[in-house]
Amino acid sequence: MSAGGDDRPAIGGPAELLAFAYRLEADAEERYAMLADQMEVHNNPDVAALFRKLAAIEGKHAAEIAERLAGIGAPTPGLFEVEWPGVEGPETVDFGDAHYLMTPWHALKLALKAEQRAFAFFDGVARTAENAEVRAAAEAFAAEEEEHVRLVERELDRHRSPDESWSFDPDPAGSGSAP
Ligand code: ZN
Repeated sequence: MSAGGDDRPAIGGPAELLAFAYRLEADAEERYAMLADQMEVHNNPDVAALFRKLAAIEGKHAAEIAERLAGIGAPTPGLFEVEWPGVEGPETVDFGDAHYLMTPWHALKLALKAEQRAFAFFDGVARTAENAEVRAAAEAFAAEEEEHVRLVERELDRHRSPDESWSFDPDPAGSGSAP
């Protein structure tokens, strides 16, 4: 169905982009809040605080986007009302991996991947959308996600990789996480 024939959903107009962006931010907020809970359980208060901060950032974005949707008379999409190429949104942290999380480093690696996927999603839309308004809005969203990537990267710098007693690697191929 999508024009390019790839796995990216076709985004025809600004309302559609905002609907995707809303779900992306709202889902991310929820997942970061859950990760924060998990870090608290594992007694990692500083990383819990980072995830609370990320949840707040994403939640603020979601609220702003909901306002923009209301402003153009479009509904705020519910959980299953946008069709992502995969099962979950591009910014969603994979909880199949997350239940293994025992260190801040692991949690941050997952967060980094989620933010990188979110950036790639908006960047892809910005490059390929035919509608100029959609391209401009996608560029702005991509820039925000790039900031989130940097925020998580800075935090990763402060939390060195775990010692050899940890065998679980959320990113075994080292795929694309190097600058
Ligand atoms: Zn983000």
